[in-house]
Amino acid sequence: MRIAMVSEHASPLACLGGVDAGGQNVHVAALSAALVARGHEVVVYTRADQSALPRRVRMASGVQVEHVHAGPPREVPKDELLPYMDAFAVQLARRWRLDPPDVVHGHFWMSGLAAIKAAGVTATPVLQTFHALGTVKRRWQGAGDTSPTARIGLERRVACSVDRIIATCTDEVAELSAMGAAEGRIDVVPCGVDLDLFKTVDPQPPRGDRPARLLVVGRLVERKGIEDAVRAMAYLPDTELVVVGGPSPHELAGDPEIARLAAIARECGTVGRVTFTGRVTHDELPAVIRGADVLLAVPWYEPFGIVPLEAMACGVPVVATAVGGLLDTIVAGVTGVFVEPRNPAAIAAATQGLLADERGRAAMGAAGRKRAQSRYGWDWVARKTEESYLSVLAEHRDAVRTAEAIR
Ligand code: UDP
Repeated sequence: MRIAMVSEHASPLACLGGVDAGGQNVHVAALSAALVARGHEVVVYTRADQSALPRRVRMASGVQVEHVHAGPPREVPKDELLPYMDAFAVQLARRWRLDPPDVVHGHFWMSGLAAIKAAGVTATPVLQTFHALGTVKRRWQGAGDTSPTARIGLERRVACSVDRIIATCTDEVAELSAMGAAEGRIDVVPCGVDLDLFKTVDPQPPRGDRPARLLVVGRLVERKGIEDAVRAMAYLPDTELVVVGGPSPHELAGDPEIARLAAIARECGTVGRVTFTGRVTHDELPAVIRGADVLLAVPWYEPFGIVPLEAMACGVPVVATAVGGLLDTIVAGVTGVFVEPRNPAAIAAATQGLLADERGRAAMGAAGRKRAQSRYGWDWVARKTEESYLSVLAEHRDAVRTAEAIR
């Protein structure tokens, strides 16, 4: 198949860990690579955020990334990109008219808008992965939600117009149904994890007499619950918390979110036990994860959450909030422990329980690795995605045949 991925703000070539660069970038890059490995041709269309970018870049995986000029050629926060989506769609349609793909797969609601518009020109079927939903964001963030006000209505339109939605977790299906999407047009295919990169090592490096180490990894946005993890440290003496993500290490000093979290650590009397590393490259991350005793994944809500899966693949147990995609990936008491969101005392109690049980932790780590291997490898995810593409293509062919017969 010739597959067009549309990922307006999240380029597979971006540095990870910044405010708008995380799971979607990883997902698009890894899924596309796994589809290429299965013999498909994949082009990822993403917005040019610099003027000097080459039009097409071929990644080592064989995935081609095409930069689309729509809006200013500089970084623009994703919540300000909506005005440029018409121009983005015009550029896509121009390319696809000359060289039509077999299927289009949109990532995030704005890509969906552009994909539907452009694919209409060539009558190409469109599948959509939302990665996050405006209704959920509004519910949790209220006035703090910086999405355009039109998002919820437009997102509903995308959900009801595409040929198929690929939801990344079961919880999302209920949200999509509540938005009016027909359940029969929703497939659930999770995100994956790079099992060759995120793996266990044997023998484990010696722990020495260092204090127990907790780890948080992610974009430094409020809803990731990093503040709750920092506050939990007040209940966890003899423990250190390492926070990975955010700006590059030499820009830590000027980062407002790090300043806010550091002030909370001071307020909780945990200064010196909470460290901020800034972003860590994806290749270096597995060693950092393996160096932790427990990973804390404690967002207020989470559309999927690749980081806890990466910890599982590295054999590290997870304390997780019982929300969104985490409800599917983590098995309570087997690969991790669930807590309610926004509750530092509950995070501390669950973590303490794990820290006090070394054998239990080791068993959970091993179970996590096994679970990641059995159902979250990117090849498996690509196979399931391919099934969705083929099913949509078959429906599309039937519809064309019926229309021709009527004529
Ligand atoms: N990540 C990284 N370095 C960092 C911070 C994050 O490589 O400093 C990666 C992380 O390994 C994961 C992704 O960014 O693959 C974050 O994905 P997740 O689904 O957990 O969160 P999202 O960004 O989608 O909210």
